[in-house]
Amino acid sequence: MRGDGTIYSREGTTILWCKYYLRGKAFREPTGHSDREKAKKFLRDRLREVGADLIGARPFVGPAAERIKVSCYVPAEECDCLCCALERDLELRGKASVQNLSNLKRVRQDFGAMAAVAVSEDATDTYIARRLKDGAAPASINRCTQLLGQAFKLAIRRRRLQMAPYIRHLSEKGNVRQGFFAYAEFKRVVEHLPDHLRDFARFAYITGMRRGEIASLTWTDVDDGDLRLRAEDAKNGESRGLPLEEELAEVIERRRAARLVKKAGGVIMTAQTVFHRDGLPILEFRKSWKTAACMAGVGTLVCRKCKGAVDADYKCAKCKKTWKRDDLKYVGRLFHDFRRSAVRDMVRAGTPESVAMKISGHKTQSMFTRYNIASDADMRQALKATREYREAQAEKVTAMPKRSAGVN
Ligand SMILES: [Zn+2]
Ligand SMILES: [Zn+2]
Repeated sequence: MRGDGTIYSREGTTILWCKYYLRGKAFREPTGHSDREKAKKFLRDRLREVGADLIGARPFVGPAAERIKVSCYVPAEECDCLCCALERDLELRGKASVQNLSNLKRVRQDFGAMAAVAVSEDATDTYIARRLKDGAAPASINRCTQLLGQAFKLAIRRRRLQMAPYIRHLSEKGNVRQGFFAYAEFKRVVEHLPDHLRDFARFAYITGMRRGEIASLTWTDVDDGDLRLRAEDAKNGESRGLPLEEELAEVIERRRAARLVKKAGGVIMTAQTVFHRDGLPILEFRKSWKTAACMAGVGTLVCRKCKGAVDADYKCAKCKKTWKRDDLKYVGRLFHDFRRSAVRDMVRAGTPESVAMKISGHKTQSMFTRYNIASDADMRQALKATREYREAQAEKVTAMPKRSAGVN
């Protein structure tokens, strides 16, 4: 069964138009040709698509859906490309985090102004393979492809697209990067961080809170002896309070003293966020982090290609390539390791897990448990303690018959 269609001309254009129906709905669109034979061929192709839909072989996409792009060149508020629509959706859901937006930006770059209907399983596979080859971690790729998938889902829910491509999810097993800071290492890194990041790092190391959450703290969140964490900033959507005691109180006092910023020309401005750089919120500091970690001996820069060591001139002997410093790959301790370290150390110091989870803002036990992973030394210590406990028990057992002997 195939629908009917007609070719017709419209005033003001030499391009011929066509009209056809699917389930009673009329579609009108330019054929792109002024030649009648070519226009007829265009219409025949459309009717074939309509026929495929009618027998249930393939849903009809239609001219409106075909025009939808994955992304536009200049993001705009009323733009209806997949990425702009998703960005607005993320904002409404309170999920427009720095990370999500930066990943979405990457999706925009990588898929460009590609038509949404052209994004196939093949196309996404090619994309994934290319990024893996470029040395991207499976987790980073997944964050981007997940956003792409969300963008498609949203378009389908809004009946703008009929289908989404299947997008592969890479295994992230073995990607749980476990790094913990010993106290001395932490202090060394802080020494090498620029001024505006030192208290920021201390705060993270003490509380185990997420980087984004700390960066968004404003003075309205700070009560006299309390820190009120607004629900919309916390990833898990629960508001909570944190008492400002000891080290934490000292950090906040120092920040209070550093609230006023003298800008060029002698203008004084008041920083809104607790942690700031020249009065502005702290956004990204990958470069400062790399430098500090390398200087503190908890990180190193390696060849981006073979991940091998480079010499002082950033030359990889194996690849015979001299790199620019910024192009080298960083391996080592991450800022996020402060969170893992805080959680683990709190628990080790005898803090009940439920309390530690409140401080760090962990809602689910699984993530928390993952951070609280025992190190080799922990496990050795545990085995040793267990053995000692058993030996102590064994002594009691051997001592027992003596006592009972007297009874019998
Ligand atoms: Zn757009
Ligand atoms: Zn190399």
